[in-house]
Amino acid sequence: MTENYDVIIIGSGAGGGTLAYTLAESGKNILLLERGDFLPRELENWDAKPVFVEGKYISKDTWYDRDGKQFQPQVHYFVGGATKLYGAALYRLRPGDFGEIKHADGISPAWPLSYDDFEPWYSRAERLYQVHGNAGEDPTEGPHSEPYPWPAVSHEPRLQQISDDLAKGGYHPFHAPCGILLNEADRPRSICIRCATCDGYPCLVHAKADADVIAVRPLLGRPNVTLLTGAEVRRLETGDSGRTVTGVVVSRDGNREVYTGDIVAVSAGAANSAKILLNSASDKHPNGLANGSDQVGRNYMFHNCKAVAALSKERNDTVFQKTLGINDFYFATKDYEYPMGNIQMVGKSNAEAMRGEQPQLTWFAPEWGLDDCAKHSVDFWLTTEDLPVPENRVTTDKDGNVHVTVTMTNNEEADRLYGELKKVLNHAGMAAHHVFRKNFYMDMAIPLAGCAHQAGTCRFGTDPATSVLDTDCKAHELDNLYVVDTSFFPSIGAVNPALTAIANALRVGDHIRQRMA
Ligand SMILES: Cc1cc2nc3c(=O)[nH]c(=O)nc-3n(C[C@H](O)[C@H](O)[C@H](O)COP(=O)(O)OP(=O)(O)OC[C@H]3O[C@@H](n4cnc5c(N)ncnc54)[C@H](O)[C@@H]3O)c2cc1C
Ligand code: SF4
Repeated sequence: MTENYDVIIIGSGAGGGTLAYTLAESGKNILLLERGDFLPRELENWDAKPVFVEGKYISKDTWYDRDGKQFQPQVHYFVGGATKLYGAALYRLRPGDFGEIKHADGISPAWPLSYDDFEPWYSRAERLYQVHGNAGEDPTEGPHSEPYPWPAVSHEPRLQQISDDLAKGGYHPFHAPCGILLNEADRPRSICIRCATCDGYPCLVHAKADADVIAVRPLLGRPNVTLLTGAEVRRLETGDSGRTVTGVVVSRDGNREVYTGDIVAVSAGAANSAKILLNSASDKHPNGLANGSDQVGRNYMFHNCKAVAALSKERNDTVFQKTLGINDFYFATKDYEYPMGNIQMVGKSNAEAMRGEQPQLTWFAPEWGLDDCAKHSVDFWLTTEDLPVPENRVTTDKDGNVHVTVTMTNNEEADRLYGELKKVLNHAGMAAHHVFRKNFYMDMAIPLAGCAHQAGTCRFGTDPATSVLDTDCKAHELDNLYVVDTSFFPSIGAVNPALTAIANALRVGDHIRQRMA
């Protein structure tokens, strides 16, 4: 007879890893089930070819689109989940994101909790993940009860020049909040070496504030925490009442294993959490677990994004580029009645990663080779909010495979944001005709596969008819089942989602601790 755990957590990423971290101090017996292994530390971690061109760290999963066509999703199965590869841009949602917002294609609904409810958890999350930032620079940002725990990562000269030019042009550039273990006041002893291979790469020296380094590794060796890697959860079983999860069915080393726990938290990422619940259909839950409302898997969001490179005559020798943000178009402006979104930097282009863009580049800068293009490019990431549309959904087929059906929303807003970026760049000496979209980052060439910011498949709310989870992220229909990852988002805003997933895991962890006390 195997041990019964107090809490079983499925998935060790931003949500699950952080939940394990915050529950561990309670002394309760915790089992962390992770489908992947530790990401290997090897020179390829910092090599664009294996990372971007060969997709070495992307799962071999096959998912299907609405027409049944196969694609390889950009998901990462490792201890730490997607945060192993993330850009560590750790933004809070804006206070306005918690309310209802009118968009070109419809309404972004209000959250059942406010910014003020989340604020203390954001502060804790920033402390835990060592976020570097300067509160108060970005006019759209909400109040902070505590300053950022670390000063903002400084701009390198080219970015400082762009920031100054934008400020002169009347914009409000700010230092982007960033979770890297960089101590600029003491560089020789800083864990982070401030390199060019951060955004989209794993960190070879474990200096990125990812869920593995920050949340899971500190727990290893604790007597009350068991981490099982290579443990893929296939389904959850319930008892006779149907209200309690009584078994977590795992495939490990080709064997079927069943674990039991008083509380079960699913934190497998928005698509995979929906997959687990949908694949757990039973007589008591014929549409899948916690899915009496038919909401599980629906309202899938992943941001309407563009990666853009601007070529300028001036060289851009920046090493760590992700230091600047612009939120002047985050909400409606005097010229446009809808929000457009966030502009931030993305990892610096290099020749290898740009190879796929060669035809465009030859057209834009015929006299330049790939190396020249990379040296002169300034690289931006544009995020527009996409809407929680019920028809945009994750489903599973009879074999349990994931199907994703998506119609993009707010394309008009996204195009406008691109237009605004071109105007912004005129102020920074980068003429509009030298701006082009690049596809290699986050597999932009197949938009559906670029599911890095996936969210929304088990939204939380007060009404069991329209939501899957209550405001504690407990399933309305079950007494001991929680979902603690980006699935709970009722809307996604236009900033990166990880900090909100982390803050929420701390919030829900506090609730679970009180429940178990
Ligand atoms: C390239 C890239 C760049 C990004 N940049 C940023 C950024 O700069 N800022 C930001 O805020 N966000 C960024 N993101 C997104 C961010 O990483 C995610 O929003 C965040 O990690 C989501 O947390 P999660 O807990 O929902 O899922 P994840 O962190 O993905 O964790 C899910 C975990 O569950 C495991 N799992 C899945 N299925 C099972 C199963 N059946 N059984 C057991 N375990 C399972 C997975 O292996 C994984 O470890 C980026 C993502 C990528 C891929
Ligand atoms: S910039 Fe710092 S955190 Fe990022 S990969 Fe380099 S050393 Fe790691």
